Amino acid sequence: MKVAFLGLGIMGRPMAANLVKAGHEVSVWNRTHGKTVEGATSAATPAHAARNAEVVWMCVSDTAAVENVLFGESGVEQSLRPGMIVADSSTISPASTLEFAKRVRAKGADYVDSPVTGSKIGAEAGQLIFIAGGAEDTITRLQPLFSAMGKQVLHMGDTGKGQSAKIAANLMIAMIYEGFAEGLTLAQKLGVDPERLVGLVQASMIRSGVVDYKAPFVLKRDYSPNFPLRLMHKDIHLVLDAAQQLGLKLPGIGAVEHVYEESVRAGHADDDYAATLAVIEKWAGTE
Ligand code: NAP
Repeated sequence: MKVAFLGLGIMGRPMAANLVKAGHEVSVWNRTHGKTVEGATSAATPAHAARNAEVVWMCVSDTAAVENVLFGESGVEQSLRPGMIVADSSTISPASTLEFAKRVRAKGADYVDSPVTGSKIGAEAGQLIFIAGGAEDTITRLQPLFSAMGKQVLHMGDTGKGQSAKIAANLMIAMIYEGFAEGLTLAQKLGVDPERLVGLVQASMIRSGVVDYKAPFVLKRDYSPNFPLRLMHKDIHLVLDAAQQLGLKLPGIGAVEHVYEESVRAGHADDDYAATLAVIEKWAGTE
């Protein structure tokens, strides 16, 4: 298929590379020049990348970035034709997704929200899980591209339901990790060896994919970014915004947001979100 891939960050670059590897004709664009993908052509603007594409795939930071790529100066909108599909793997606001989809459909194209889970390692290995929202037949048409970049597509419902499920999932990930970070800090303060604590977690019903993935990094205090803290912070704000719109009280994630505020203030925005542990440890005096 002819694909325009927009956004070559930690996730987007390996996703686009996997599309090339699977034999698709890929045109890439990134806001900052200099990021390229071997085997893909580089376009000067989103509109240019999308000009001959059947599918436009985005993976950029946040809601404002998606709006800019689609509808900004030289945005994708200028190149939309009936029959095209726009797919968004960024994690953004479900409410804005509905507006963006409406504007895209006004041009005769279709829109699928398809945020991902699996992190950098899943993007590189072509093992992402797509959390999709949109029409069944449009999602079916995208199947060759999903297969090139991931191992599973979970269809959550109509437009926006992919983003809605994704932010709910990230609420859980953020809270599971904070539980681990606080438990680890308490145990260490009480004199328990951290590796033995991780052994307890893995042997018991506390076990989680989040801890399995993060523990080896955390035990070395390696906070190099797989999922940057600033992006998880953005997702926590998406959760809190949605909760406010719905009149929901979600006190746990509110408390976690405070830890993220402090982590950003302490200079950890570009570290992995695992670095919230550094703040908890600083408060505990166990750095
Ligand atoms: P990243 O490495 O920070 O890359 C962000 C990308 O967005 C870059 O290409 C950046 O361009 C572009 N961008 C930022 N602001 C823009 C704007 N205003 N206009 C156009 N482009 C803009 O982030 P990432 O880790 O790849 O994450 C991308 C998305 O996937 C995010 O929504 C994130 O929440 C989600 N996600 C990430 C992970 C993960 O583990 N990393 C997992 C699941 C989901 P420049 O190069 O010019 O800065």
